[in-house]
Amino acid sequence: MAFASRAFLKSVEGKVFLNNKWVTPASKAVSSLYNPYDNSLVSSAHAIGNQHDVDTAVSSARTAFHGPWSKFTGGQRGAVLNKFADLLDANAEEAAFYESICSGRVRSQLKYEVPFISSIIRYYAGWSDKIEGDVLSDDADGFYKIIRREALGVCAGITPWNGPLMVFALKAAPALATGNTFILKPPEKSPLSSLFAASLLPAAGLPEGVLNVVTGDGSTGAMLASHMKVDMVSFTGSVPTGKKIADAANNSNMKRCALELGGKSPALVFPDANIKKAIPELVRGITQNAGQVCVASSRVYVHEDIADELIAGIKAGFEAISVGEDPQDPSTTFGPVVDPVQYQKVNEFIEKGKTEATLVTGGEKYEKGGSYVTPTVFKITDANAAVYKQEIFGPVLVVRTFKTEEEAVDMANDSEFGLAAYLWTEDHRRILRVTKQLQAGHIGVNAGVALFPTAPFGGYKSSGVGKEMGKLALQDYTNVKSIYIR
Ligand code: NAD
Repeated sequence: MAFASRAFLKSVEGKVFLNNKWVTPASKAVSSLYNPYDNSLVSSAHAIGNQHDVDTAVSSARTAFHGPWSKFTGGQRGAVLNKFADLLDANAEEAAFYESICSGRVRSQLKYEVPFISSIIRYYAGWSDKIEGDVLSDDADGFYKIIRREALGVCAGITPWNGPLMVFALKAAPALATGNTFILKPPEKSPLSSLFAASLLPAAGLPEGVLNVVTGDGSTGAMLASHMKVDMVSFTGSVPTGKKIADAANNSNMKRCALELGGKSPALVFPDANIKKAIPELVRGITQNAGQVCVASSRVYVHEDIADELIAGIKAGFEAISVGEDPQDPSTTFGPVVDPVQYQKVNEFIEKGKTEATLVTGGEKYEKGGSYVTPTVFKITDANAAVYKQEIFGPVLVVRTFKTEEEAVDMANDSEFGLAAYLWTEDHRRILRVTKQLQAGHIGVNAGVALFPTAPFGGYKSSGVGKEMGKLALQDYTNVKSIYIR
């Protein structure tokens, strides 16, 4: 493939994206990027932006917000976003390559995901000229009242490595649709797809400074979260980092904060479920992206009457997965975790799991090179087991049995997280009852992991604050102003 020469990468190495140009940052600090397939070096010059670089990006975004971007009509903003989506589609293979090369994400999945990301951008392009206010009906108090919905100003997006291109779109598209300017801090482990997408924006007609990218690690992200001239920060990542970002936002200028955080999402399988349909979805739900999916169905609760059959089916599904294949090969469906740090973390969970739960399959450490983790299933009897309680973010599934619906719901809700939940049953009354009781923001019934541009997505409890996708996301990026005229 032409882009195997990595010409784009060579042209942006060590640079940040400011005012529609790749420029050398003030900071001299760099980090290295690796391919987790074989831990080979991808780049040794990934810039770590410093305070000066962040200040420059904020100042350029502020100038653009009050300048050319404020002169764009909603329809014109929508046209830019539509063109951006078209360019992403036209360059989908290259975008997928740069998403995959440092994350290990498999190309077979990205083939569908990049067009889905374009559809998210188009969805928000459609909203650009439909951001409406209101005029309140005359209630004879002598006041004429106008309700305006306005852009916030400069928004920052801080994104994780497990799906960086999609999360970039989930934040930048509604931010730009509503007239804000935007600064992205992509993940330090897998930033290249975000850089590649940003490089398409000038050709889409985006004015200078409307979207800037400052690369870096958590220190660069922290500078954005605490910046006095950033009006909003939208973060996707882990719960501990989310808490730091909320603190930084509160302790600086009380900027608005949207948080999409971690999960340990339950899947409840009732005796009346279609087990043949459930099994492949439950296998996919925790092995897709090597289990590094915030909405992964990582806890399965199965009724004791069907437990043996379901566990045998899941075990067979896990054992059919081929470990160690190249993510760039179009037939590969299971890739490595993102890096040796994550490999070590997940393997430590597995070792601990062997002492606190019953190993059903997997468990052995993959040691043939590359950050692959053997897909592993544990049967749980101790509800305090670390593998059962904590988000592992790897291909590790825990299964627990239940006797009654009430017990299943209680066990599913007994978690600090509330991102997603899944339900397998053919009983429609049970669907209504249980979906009402489950404390999660995103519930699939007789379906595995799925996202829709039109449906709001966001967690309950420690899994987050705010919504992405759907029209509700527009609220996170706008302020409402009441004007009363006598
Ligand atoms: P992370 O929290 O370690 O890092 C996420 C981003 O935050 C990175 O860009 C990082 O550089 C930055 N960061 C780190 N410290 C920071 C600080 N103090 N201030 C500002 N920014 C800082 O998360 P990760 O390991 O990259 O991603 C995995 C986590 O993300 C998992 O918990 C997963 O569940 C979660 N996630 C959630 C969703 C969702 O939509 N709810 C989606 C994807 C991932």
